Amino acid sequence: MRVLLATRNAGKIAELRQILAEAAPAVALVGLDAVDEYPETPETELTFTGNALLKARDGVARTGLPTIADDSGLAVDALNGMPGVLSARWAGPAKNDEANNALLLGQIADIDEAGRGAKFVCAAALVWPDGREVVVHGEMPGRIGREPRGSNGFGYDPLFIPEGYDVTSAELSSEEKNAISHRGKAFRELASGI
Ligand code: IMP
Repeated sequence: MRVLLATRNAGKIAELRQILAEAAPAVALVGLDAVDEYPETPETELTFTGNALLKARDGVARTGLPTIADDSGLAVDALNGMPGVLSARWAGPAKNDEANNALLLGQIADIDEAGRGAKFVCAAALVWPDGREVVVHGEMPGRIGREPRGSNGFGYDPLFIPEGYDVTSAELSSEEKNAISHRGKAFRELASGI
């Protein structure tokens, strides 16, 4: 059975493929590059769940394939859960990771260690052509460091220190990060129900 993961992010496709190889070996996962091109679904909802469902429903409507989509971001305690669904474009529509990290660091510069808690959040949706919908959530708790460290990963990884670690998620290998990440947790739960 072919299942679409509505993304062009090769890292996400590889991660979910690896999970499905164990959980649902009959599934052949394809990304957006493997189907007829359609316009990117705008993430217009105010929640991760809403955006994941938008993208998954759109994938089914456009391709007829069962479709998985995820939406994720960073929720910082001292910012009342922001940047949240605005994580990718926190410093503006250019979606520049370095600018986002610099803005975040500045915004919480005077917050002490105890107040620097944060978590990555992921909603993953699976929509079937017959209309069935499943949504799951994963979280990775941690805190925001004082300066960027590490060169693996993407986005806010150089600032994010997962709970129980002394290093940032940009200093973990992709296997180490996937084992504890918000997206890894959500994808594993979704895969176990296919
Ligand atoms: P998306 O759900 O892949 O579109 O991610 C939205 C944004 O959230 C990204 O552009 C990053 O800024 C941030 N983000 C989500 N997951 C991660 C992660 O695992 N590490 C670092 N940043 C992340």
